[in-house]
Amino acid sequence: MPRAFYITTPIYYVNASPHIGHAYTTIVADVLARYHRLTGEETFFVTGTDEHGDKIAEAAQKAGVTPQEYADKISAQFRALWPALSITNDYFIRTTDSNHIDNVRYILQKVYDSGDIYFGEYEGYYCVGCERFYMEKELVEGKCPDHQTKPQYRKESNYFFRMSKYQNWLINYIKKHPDFIRPERYKNEVLAFLRDPLDDLCISRPKTRLQWGITLPFDEKYVTYVWFDALINYVTALDYPQGDKFKKFWPVAQHLIAKDILKPHGIYWPTMLKAAGIEPYQHLNVHGYWNSDQSKMSKSLGNVVRPLDLKDKYGLDAFRYFLLRDMVFGLDSSFSEEAFVQRLNSDLANDLGNLVSRVITMAIKYCDGKVPKINHKKKDLTLHKAALKTMAEVQADFNDMSLHKALIVIWDFINLTNRYIVEKEPWTLGKDPAHREELTKIMYNLLAALRAIAILIFPFMPQTAQKILKQIGVDESEKLDLAGISKDDALTAGNTLIRGESLFPRIEITKENKISAEKGATMVDSKPEIDYEDFAKLDLRVAKILDAEIVPKSNKLLKLRIDIGEERTIVAGIGKDYTPAELIGKKILVIANLKPAKLMGIESRGMLLAADTDNGLTVLTFEREAQTGAKIR
Ligand SMILES: [Zn+2]
Repeated sequence: MPRAFYITTPIYYVNASPHIGHAYTTIVADVLARYHRLTGEETFFVTGTDEHGDKIAEAAQKAGVTPQEYADKISAQFRALWPALSITNDYFIRTTDSNHIDNVRYILQKVYDSGDIYFGEYEGYYCVGCERFYMEKELVEGKCPDHQTKPQYRKESNYFFRMSKYQNWLINYIKKHPDFIRPERYKNEVLAFLRDPLDDLCISRPKTRLQWGITLPFDEKYVTYVWFDALINYVTALDYPQGDKFKKFWPVAQHLIAKDILKPHGIYWPTMLKAAGIEPYQHLNVHGYWNSDQSKMSKSLGNVVRPLDLKDKYGLDAFRYFLLRDMVFGLDSSFSEEAFVQRLNSDLANDLGNLVSRVITMAIKYCDGKVPKINHKKKDLTLHKAALKTMAEVQADFNDMSLHKALIVIWDFINLTNRYIVEKEPWTLGKDPAHREELTKIMYNLLAALRAIAILIFPFMPQTAQKILKQIGVDESEKLDLAGISKDDALTAGNTLIRGESLFPRIEITKENKISAEKGATMVDSKPEIDYEDFAKLDLRVAKILDAEIVPKSNKLLKLRIDIGEERTIVAGIGKDYTPAELIGKKILVIANLKPAKLMGIESRGMLLAADTDNGLTVLTFEREAQTGAKIR
């Protein structure tokens, strides 16, 4: 296991503003970087912008500015976005940086000197959008498959990199290192490309048609092809060739890309490295697209979800959670606001948010607002052992880039902790001072579980993790580490517990934001959250209606004789919606422990439940046969 970790995003092309695809890749890189820092590895995380080439020159011309001014403006947008998404990159590289320009020229000269760059003639179909020549067989009905535009036929003298020379080496390397490119489908895709003879790569553009690039060190009349320039950023960022960072981090280099740039990263880059005498990177990690309405969500189709809009609407951590939880790494995924809100309400508000609020509320109540002091030798280790198992599974999932699986196992642990509360019933123990010691241990276990959860979710949701830690009295300055989960006495007795605000308030489902699929009432005037123990106070029962009659002189009251394991009388205001005959024999839902109340002189012991509809009230019944008197939970 290497003690260092190097992760890169692609450097983003500055021909358009950041979109959800950029946000996803960069958040994944951030999750990986944060995770590896938690494991104690020295970590270096690089992102940046790719600023040369035809498209930038064109866009700048349209905007009436110089290419440098244009690149400055868009690069600044990316640079400003990352802190807003809690991205913790260690370095931001621009291909217009002087150290990068020097490095590209250094590598070009090296490869040229070794004889792997030659001058030749090229003619073919050139797509301006792709900035590359196409072979006739690659075109679809004479058009660029990506841009659906007709390429221009061009003839040029240019410099070529002898990529074909390294074809067999690359095939063998990939076969010997099965996780060099992952997931496997992308390894197979690269091997499929390599079944046909590989062409040499045209790596220059004559200045007569493009000046916006890095001048070749061996011919002033040409600039460097944008890919041969851009890919080199990954070693420039480490101060190649002499830097200490290069020695430390290059052997553990991992690239993260979307599948649209698989070929440059899976074929050009390893062969370029080989020709320059640099070892290949360790892993190329390839993810799919975020789809919306079946079409690729990308700038070229003008179908862009602005990441910051969603972050502002629902909060950054919910946004990060959704992207990581809903996409199986490597596969395409659909983005919808509905799915987002469902996740937020179920996983974040319901599972995680409620757990934290229940535990803190109970711990404050039963432990005098402080982390309790307990005898660790005699405690129940159920939760601790589950936390250790979860940690091991999360590590395995990170190692093979299954980040959604890591979240699934963390949520299994969250739900196990929720069940632990239900099983232990601290509110029952709390009634009897004789159970004080047992109760204290249970509360300690729950607080320790929250600590483990906070550490495990930290790479994904750093702000939420910090909020949880603050509530359980962990000092902000405490250095988090993954192995710390294995310490079962890590919480300091006597530290003050702090009741915080709800971590993830439920999102109301309204017609306005089109979240509701079904036409229905909007969830207005919702009530404040309650704890499970409040809910547990309700004695809900299955009741069978034995008899029903109209209460004389009343508008809508019916007197019902019911069986809930005992016979009772209740009075219900459903006389406008039901005739007595309709009700007899029905099984309904009743709150059995509501304080008795007198209505029109009749004592009602309990209350039935009903819902409003457009046509009046409907009484709640059961989907399947339920036993009279059975508890409802
Ligand atoms: Zn194209």
